[in-house]
Amino acid sequence: MLFFDLKKINGRYADELKRAASEVIDSGRYIRGGAVERFEDELSAFTGCRYAIGTGNGLDALRLILKAYTELGIMAPGDEVILPANTFIATLLAVADNGLKPVITDIDPETMNLDTELAEKAITSRTKAIIPVHLYGNCCWDGRLRNIALNRGIKIVEDNAQAIGATSDTDGINGGRTAGHLGHASGISFYPAKNLGALGDCGAVTTDDPLLADTVRALGNYGSTRKYVHEYMGLNSRMDEMQAAFLSVKMKYLDADNEIRRGIASVYGRCIRAGEVKKPAPHNGKCVWHQYVIRTSERDGLQRFLAENGVETMIHYPTPLHRHEACREYSHLHLPVAEKYAGEILSLPISPVMTHADAEYVSDLINRFFGA
Ligand SMILES: *Cc1c(COP(=O)(O)O)cnc(C)c1O
Repeated sequence: MLFFDLKKINGRYADELKRAASEVIDSGRYIRGGAVERFEDELSAFTGCRYAIGTGNGLDALRLILKAYTELGIMAPGDEVILPANTFIATLLAVADNGLKPVITDIDPETMNLDTELAEKAITSRTKAIIPVHLYGNCCWDGRLRNIALNRGIKIVEDNAQAIGATSDTDGINGGRTAGHLGHASGISFYPAKNLGALGDCGAVTTDDPLLADTVRALGNYGSTRKYVHEYMGLNSRMDEMQAAFLSVKMKYLDADNEIRRGIASVYGRCIRAGEVKKPAPHNGKCVWHQYVIRTSERDGLQRFLAENGVETMIHYPTPLHRHEACREYSHLHLPVAEKYAGEILSLPISPVMTHADAEYVSDLINRFFGA
C-alpha cells in the first residue's frame, strides 16, 4: 500500500482536469487571466476571508505576508517571530528570508502543534508575529492566541498548508472559524500532496485586511500594481492559470475528500488496539486529517514491520527545526517534547482513495506487531 497514491487521487478527476487544461490552452492567457481570479473568489468564499491572493507556492505565501508587514512598517529586520519546532522547514524559511528572527518553541504534548502557553511566555518587546502551524490538519488556535492577536499588537500568521477545510472551536479574530480565517492572515499550500493539491506548485494568502492583501498582491507581482510602475522591491510569485483551473475542479470535491479522510481516521481510532500506541485525538473543531500520526517508542521496528508487509509509512517530521544543519545557530536550544517525539512519531497512510478495509489491514498489522 502506497503512503499516498497521487495518480489515483487525480485519476478520479482526469476527464475534468483535461477539459480544464484544454480551456486554458485555448484561452491564450496563461498568467493573470480569468482562471486565477475565479479560483481566488472560490477560495475566499470557501474560507470566509475577504481576500485570497494566489502565489507561486506555500512558502512564498508565508514569505509575502511577512514581507508585506515589513513594507508596511509593522515589522523590521531583527524583530522576532515565534514558531513551533515540529513543522516543515518552510515555516522558518519564510521568517529568516525577511531578516526576521525565528524564535523556535517546543510543542504541545497532546496536539504536537505549537504550545500556545510556551509561545506566550516567549513573547518579548521585539515579538511582532506568531506563526501557529495547523499541523496534520488540526487548527492550532485557542483563546490564548486570540487574546494575543486582539490585545498585544502581535500578528498571528497561520501556516495553513495542511488544514484547508478544517475548523476551530474558538472564534477567529474576525469571528470566522475556518482554518485560514482565524488570525490576521494565512499562507496556504497547494503542493500536490496537500488536501487540496494542484498538479504543480502554487499557494495562496488569505486575509480580511485590505492593505495587507493589496501589498501581498503587489509584492508577488514584481512590487507592481500597474504595469511597469514598481512601488516595492518585489518578486515573481504568482499562481498560474493552469494550476488555478485545476484547483477550481478539485475544490468542488474538497469537503467530500476531507470527509473520507475523517472516515479513515475513525477506522484507525477504532481498530488500533495496541496499548503501546498513542493515537492522535482530534482536539479542536473539525480536523481534516492531512496526516494520521501515531506515537510509539518502538517506531523504527514498527515502521520496518509495516514495510515488510507492504505498507508504506512516513515521518512528519524526523528532525525538529533546531536540529537541522541549516539552523545550526539554534542548535543550543533544548526543546524536550519536540526532540522526544521526533523519534516516536509515525504517519500512517491516509487519503481519499483509501478504503476502510485498507485502514483495517494497517491497524491489524500494528496490533499484530505488538501482540495485541
Ligand atoms: C507544504 C508546507 C509548506 C510549504 O508549502 P509549499 O507549497 O511546498 O511551498 C509550509 N508549511 C507547511 C507546514 C507545509 O506542510
